[in-house]
Amino acid sequence: MNTIASTPRIAIVGGGLGGLTLARTLQVHGIAPALYEADAARDARPGQGGTLDLDLESGQRALREAGLTQEFLAAARPEGQAFKLVDKHGTPLREMTGQDHGMERPEIDRGALRDILLDSLDPRTIRWGKKLTKTVPLTGGRHELHFTDGTSETCDLLVGADGAWSRVRPLLTDATPQYNGVSFLELGITDADRTQPALAELVGHGSFYALGDDKGIMPQRNGDGRIRTYVALRVPENWLTTSGIPYDRPAEARAAILAHFEDWAPEVTDLIRYSDDTILPRPIMRLPVGLTWPTTPGVTLLGDAAHLMSPFAGAGANLAMLDGAELALAITGSPEDPAAAVEAYEKVMHDRVLPLAEMASHHLDLMIAPDGAHQMAAMIDGFAAMAAENRDTGQPAS
Ligand SMILES: Cc1cc2nc3c(=O)[nH]c(=O)nc-3n(C[C@H](O)[C@H](O)[C@H](O)COP(=O)(O)OP(=O)(O)OC[C@H]3O[C@@H](n4cnc5c(N)ncnc54)[C@H](O)[C@@H]3O)c2cc1C
Repeated sequence: MNTIASTPRIAIVGGGLGGLTLARTLQVHGIAPALYEADAARDARPGQGGTLDLDLESGQRALREAGLTQEFLAAARPEGQAFKLVDKHGTPLREMTGQDHGMERPEIDRGALRDILLDSLDPRTIRWGKKLTKTVPLTGGRHELHFTDGTSETCDLLVGADGAWSRVRPLLTDATPQYNGVSFLELGITDADRTQPALAELVGHGSFYALGDDKGIMPQRNGDGRIRTYVALRVPENWLTTSGIPYDRPAEARAAILAHFEDWAPEVTDLIRYSDDTILPRPIMRLPVGLTWPTTPGVTLLGDAAHLMSPFAGAGANLAMLDGAELALAITGSPEDPAAAVEAYEKVMHDRVLPLAEMASHHLDLMIAPDGAHQMAAMIDGFAAMAAENRDTGQPAS
């Protein structure tokens, strides 16, 4: 692989989709960063999460800059764009097939996408088992990084790609994640076509939303045939720990969750009743909408570290990847002035994120609401009308 040692020395903390896209795009331009990842090894965390729809102008654009479009298209699932919306009685309100969207936002499993990025990197790039604990600013914008294994490194440019609870973020802002008012319980059904064919048929090839009463049952089909279900409840912060749901006794935990859906259609609540024994509590957090910070020499952020938002805009992974690609292009486009490159990157990133962060909060409030199903149906109709109008006037769909 024909990469050169990076000058300046670039340290990326965090090997999620954003950090990996940054590393790969730098590598394409002949720069070899060091990426420090807390996980002990590539396969330390089995199951990397659910399916992601990659937008043409953000996630897919990042992959184009990273030279990985062919690999993405080979693994993408356009049929995963299929969509069904029902109310709590199971009454169908809206439905779309995967074909309705072309290749605008094809789905790909997070694990498959991560594999594409990891396989594309010079193996020397990632230093596994390097959990950042402390950063010490040095002169000239350089930083000293300290890791839990007792080692330390210095760098000229530090990029925090370390997710929601970033250890790099405090160098730039005091902001911390806030609770969004909604918590998820993640459930699943393995090999659903075989083990639960009726539920597999109900969910289809894409996403399914049953909404109402400030709650939601939101399964999605993954590439390995699994149905991954997010059960959303509007509950106080810390409810997931104070509710008494015994996560280590799955049958009792399922019964406790089902008690929140007693008057819902049984064919929908079967997604909880027949889920397997992995039950993961996930509070939904966000950083303050519109968060910015004064550009600071030698350090920046990308992805969730910069702009954690609720998943209700389907934007977080797409934005993390686009941040990574654009930061790499800014750095390689301005080798003589990395500070100017970071400033230009941050300006564009902040401007891009604001409307999506607002949308993520708005969609959460609209969908996890007393009449979430009909509100979501109206939102879909609004998007469809806007797309039709844009088609008529020749504007790109937003
Ligand atoms: C339930 C749910 C569903 C979602 N669905 C979608 C969707 O459909 N579409 C979409 O676009 N987005 C979605 N998102 C959002 C998306 O998952 C995130 O926005 C995205 O993963 C952010 O990527 P990242 O690289 O910034 O951070 P992360 O993926 O969080 O990666 C951070 C990395 O940093 C490492 N790390 C953390 N701390 C340290 C440390 N101290 N030292 C070293 N390494 C460290 C971690 O191990 C990890 O590998 C969803 C989120 C959730 C919770």
